[in-house]
Amino acid sequence: MRFEKGKSLKSLTTLGIGGKAADFVEVKNEREMEKLFRENKRRWRVIGSGSNIVAPDSGFHGLVIKIGIKAFGVKGKTVYAGAGSNLLDFIKKINRHGFRGMEKMAGIPGTVAGAIYGNAGAYGQEIKDNIFRVRIFDGEKIKWISKNKCKFGYRSSIFKKNKNWVIVGAEFSFAKGNPRELSKISKDIIKLREKKYKPGLLCPGSFFKNIIIKDLKSIVRKKLLSKIDNSKIMYGKAPAGYLLEEVGAKGMSSGNVRIAQHHGNLIYNAGGGKARDIRKLSRILKDRVSRKFGVRLEEEVQYL
Ligand SMILES: Cc1cc2nc3c(=O)[nH]c(=O)nc-3n(C[C@H](O)[C@H](O)[C@H](O)COP(=O)(O)OP(=O)(O)OC[C@H]3O[C@@H](n4cnc5c(N)ncnc54)[C@H](O)[C@@H]3O)c2cc1C
Repeated sequence: MRFEKGKSLKSLTTLGIGGKAADFVEVKNEREMEKLFRENKRRWRVIGSGSNIVAPDSGFHGLVIKIGIKAFGVKGKTVYAGAGSNLLDFIKKINRHGFRGMEKMAGIPGTVAGAIYGNAGAYGQEIKDNIFRVRIFDGEKIKWISKNKCKFGYRSSIFKKNKNWVIVGAEFSFAKGNPRELSKISKDIIKLREKKYKPGLLCPGSFFKNIIIKDLKSIVRKKLLSKIDNSKIMYGKAPAGYLLEEVGAKGMSSGNVRIAQHHGNLIYNAGGGKARDIRKLSRILKDRVSRKFGVRLEEEVQYL
């Protein structure tokens, strides 16, 4: 294992923002990981590809651990993927095997573990749909936990609450499909996604989660529904992008952090952006949405 002092968090996140990590290391297999956690006495955070992270301007005064475990194996209809496997590489592989269920998630940046942590999804598919069980390090040992125990929900999982659990890998089970058709779907989706996210854009994807209508208290739900164009509700959710656009988010900026002209829920770093500007914009937008619609937006991005 190679430790690096003063590693720039900018270089570890797609937003390209953040100070330095006092120490940084990448672990490549389970043995290295167990050894590291047994010996490490410092504060730590784990990351994957950093595509959903806002890192503080002041850096992280501890050890940042990149989980780079990249195993891949197929047994019948069951597939194993190491936590650090690139999600798109994984989807391409399972497409080729004719395993159906994740082809529409092609183009979501990041690792398999990052996707499990936030139950990533797109176009009606979520990573939870095909998970059978997840392999974790619980602070003492490596073990399997069932899908049920992962408590997956919309962009949520048990891992967002149990921050000391580290995802090591996961086992998936898939229905069969046609490899050529699956690969075509993935390619088409990638093209579609590039219209929203121009390649190279420094951003963490959607900034806020959509609002799940059925989870709102009835008085809050009534207020929201009376204030929005109901045709905008998609899959039982009020899109955060729509609410943000209604409060004038498009094109706003703070320092070198901007909100896209074409999408109210896309906050990006125009170059030299700061985390403090992200937090400022986030506060302003939450306040505006809360005052106008009576609902509180919650970040989909994770503050390191
Ligand atoms: C252009 C763009 C488009 C995007 N589109 C989508 C989309 O369509 N749908 C969607 O759901 N998301 C989307 N995202 C967000 C992001 O890609 C996903 O959240 C992704 O799954 C994060 O994976 P990661 O490996 O980069 O995780 P990171 O950003 O590195 O980490 C995210 C969180 O997971 C935790 N974590 C990472 N690895 C582990 C581990 N091994 N064990 C425990 N915790 C861990 C981290 O501590 C952190 O809290 C997009 C992002 C970008 C930049």
